[in-house]
Amino acid sequence: MKPIIPFVVLAICLNINCEGQVNTSNATIKNTQQSNKKMTTSTNPYFNKTSKEKINISEQEWENTLSPALFEIARKKGTERAYTGKYDNFFDRGFYFCAACGNKLFKSDSKFASGCGWPSFFETYTESSVQYITDETHGMIRTEVVCGRCNAHLGHVFDDGPKPTGKRFCMNSISLVFEKK
Ligand SMILES: [Zn+2]
Repeated sequence: MKPIIPFVVLAICLNINCEGQVNTSNATIKNTQQSNKKMTTSTNPYFNKTSKEKINISEQEWENTLSPALFEIARKKGTERAYTGKYDNFFDRGFYFCAACGNKLFKSDSKFASGCGWPSFFETYTESSVQYITDETHGMIRTEVVCGRCNAHLGHVFDDGPKPTGKRFCMNSISLVFEKK
């Protein structure tokens, strides 16, 4: 939950700022109100845990729909700081869904303590739960993992995981929503 705190503080500051500036232009007020909106899965019209329909909407629409923290990771391919994510050291039994669209991605049975600082899984829920993109940024060749339904950036997959797959799906907690079995 730590990465969210600065945005809460920011939202409170923006709210005070907005209320104090009654005479600002309409455009400024609109942008400030969008920043203030409390974005959760319940306010996201694209979040659906049963639909398999692909989502193809503009980046602007995603920005209006997701919290700033989730938008930064899911659409701008950011990475949360190691050891700060809420699911890094978390082993309850249940399922993990895409935080942007609700697509079922992993089950807790495939989660393992990798020690790398991010929640890690050795396999996805189904083969089509995710898609793969070759990522050549930061002077490395890595395999990026994105949501199979909405293309949200989730993390990367590496070949140093445990049996039976040998894979380590290294994910951002903020890209995931957990639900107990
Ligand atoms: Zn998704």
